[in-house]
Amino acid sequence: MHLARFPRLSLGHFPTPLEALPNLSRYLGGPNIYIKRDDCTGLATGGNKTRKLEFLLADALQQQADVVITQGATQSNHVRQTIAAAAKLGLEAQVLLEKRVSDFSDDYQRSGNVLLDNLLGGRIAAHLPAGSDIPQAMEHLAETLRAQGKRPYIIPGGGSNPTGALGYVACAEELLYQSSQQRLRIDHVVHATGSSGTQAGLVAGLGASNSGIPVLGISVRAAKDKQEQNVYQLAQRTWELLGLKGELPREAVVANSDYVGAGYGLPTNSMLEALRLLAQLEGILLDPVYSGKGMAGLIDLIRRGRFSPHDNVVFIHTGGSAGLFGYRQVLESVGKYD
Ligand SMILES: *Cc1c(COP(=O)(O)O)cnc(C)c1O
Repeated sequence: MHLARFPRLSLGHFPTPLEALPNLSRYLGGPNIYIKRDDCTGLATGGNKTRKLEFLLADALQQQADVVITQGATQSNHVRQTIAAAAKLGLEAQVLLEKRVSDFSDDYQRSGNVLLDNLLGGRIAAHLPAGSDIPQAMEHLAETLRAQGKRPYIIPGGGSNPTGALGYVACAEELLYQSSQQRLRIDHVVHATGSSGTQAGLVAGLGASNSGIPVLGISVRAAKDKQEQNVYQLAQRTWELLGLKGELPREAVVANSDYVGAGYGLPTNSMLEALRLLAQLEGILLDPVYSGKGMAGLIDLIRRGRFSPHDNVVFIHTGGSAGLFGYRQVLESVGKYD
């Protein structure tokens, strides 16, 4: 595997730190929990999309695009990071938001990532009802822009296609290098999974190096079967893009959907507990939609004895703290942990 064959820009701060979480590990009575700080990728409050955008926007520039189109839920971190990256590159950004989470507060509709989308100079071309055909709406928008003489480049939701997933192949390489440097044997990798690119890239990257490190994706939306199917398909396409031989084993893709709660973006008690514990034991901010539910899954699985007390478990912090401000009402009463 030779990632440098693919065009790539430098948009973030890499490598991100790989740090121990001693207080949380002690509080839970083991295993040894580590955190890969992909919330610190540096681009306008950071997050996992920055890694994908290094490859996606390199492709956009090769195609001489002058405007980037993408989409996401109202409080999308992907949309915010795409707008920020476009700003840095001098590209226009036009985005479609989906009201995927209904009946939410003024804070949800206007603060957090939405506030930053505007500050970063993105144009919210439409805020569509839940369940709209957003890929088609992006095609329409691209047509309109082409008719105006512009050169649009469409990035799918979450930046999750094989080119974007290369960002997490790069993360897998980075993690393995750090584990050697720090003499840290990694027994498990756990993270929140949504549009699938993060897990697909990690599974392909860790698989290509024969690391034997299992990856567990905690789903924030889809049921287990569907999520695993989505991740596996994308991981296979990424594998092919990388020119790797053989097949990625289906068993390499494992998702758990027990921590979604009532639906995407809807708060759960275990998410609130995870936010509280990481903030108050480690001074680390998680987010309500992704990393909070991912960490809630890790905490619950630890309590259920899924890991041995001597395992080293790496949680990939995929970012999202800007979204906290959209959830003011839920978070105001979060209280002190006990
Ligand atoms: C997008 C996102 C995820 C999920 O990553 P996918 O590649 O879409 O599966 C996790 N955490 C945060 C904070 C995100 O913004």
